[in-house]
Amino acid sequence: MKAMVLTAVNKPLELLDLPRPEPLEDEILIKILYCGVCRTELDQIEGRIYPPKLPVIPGHQPVGIVEKIGTNVSKFKIGDIVGATWLYSSCGYCEFCKKGNENLCKQFKGTGCHADGGYAEYMVISEKYAFKIPSAYTDFSKVAPLLCGGVIGYRSLKLANITDGEPVALWGFGSSNHQLFQIIKMKYKHSPIFVFTRNVNEQELAMKMGAEWVGWIDDKPPKNVNKAIYTIPAWLPFIKALENLERGGRLIINLIRMNDDDKINLLNINYSEHLWLEKEIKTVANVSLADAEEFLSIAAEIPIIPEVQIFNLEEANLALLELKSGKIKGSKVLKIN
Ligand SMILES: [Zn+2]
Ligand SMILES: [Zn+2]
Repeated sequence: MKAMVLTAVNKPLELLDLPRPEPLEDEILIKILYCGVCRTELDQIEGRIYPPKLPVIPGHQPVGIVEKIGTNVSKFKIGDIVGATWLYSSCGYCEFCKKGNENLCKQFKGTGCHADGGYAEYMVISEKYAFKIPSAYTDFSKVAPLLCGGVIGYRSLKLANITDGEPVALWGFGSSNHQLFQIIKMKYKHSPIFVFTRNVNEQELAMKMGAEWVGWIDDKPPKNVNKAIYTIPAWLPFIKALENLERGGRLIINLIRMNDDDKINLLNINYSEHLWLEKEIKTVANVSLADAEEFLSIAAEIPIIPEVQIFNLEEANLALLELKSGKIKGSKVLKIN
């Protein structure tokens, strides 16, 4: 099978011809139709998240057809349309897994990181960690971006615990927050949404989608917000986000990594202005089985149809380069089979 493989950090992915994997007894073999491209893959390639396995096939937003099933598989049959997320596996018995917080398991394994992912014609995964794609979706290129930005965004929404009517800020309007926007509009009809970005394309998209207010990171929103969901990997806008948080407000950081180059800005944190009066900060890590199940059903109900830009598998390096240089025309997706 063809695969785009990370063989060493700081090198472009290599197109290799590898043997097709065989599913173990609890696994399914997925013939991959599309796989989303994510910023986390840039972190892996450039070594900021050092790959625990090398070589590795990246890709944690694969959607495809079940081509073969292991002898113990009962959740899927051949021909089902399935997707996988960043959650490749967890131990299943620790205190976190038992409470449904597989995302916090110390043995958490990431798809395309600890195990081969979706930048390939085929991949295997345990049936427990694969998800049926709702039948409302027929264009599967639009499903791939749901599987990372969507499900992890949904987790940040759960942690934000919005009360209908309170103002919400979205910091950054990329794959994750533009999907989240649609859920907030449906579930919290009376909450105004204020969008802060550093990118004019994102601002235009937010205005087109009906945000109550859109601005740059230095701008003042019409009022302070009770909840903020933050996705910009830099400290300066983070401090701005704290400034605009209402007393008792909560800021959710939906990022794997912050850019430490601008750490100097942290010196500008002022306790009374940025943190005092019970302001809360919480980070989001990974994704649980329940997050993915719940999100896919809500996404199909709305339905969330992400804007996508399609590349061939062989063009994965180009897609990643465009992502890095900020050429955003919707979520980037590889077409594979
Ligand atoms: Zn991702
Ligand atoms: Zn566990």
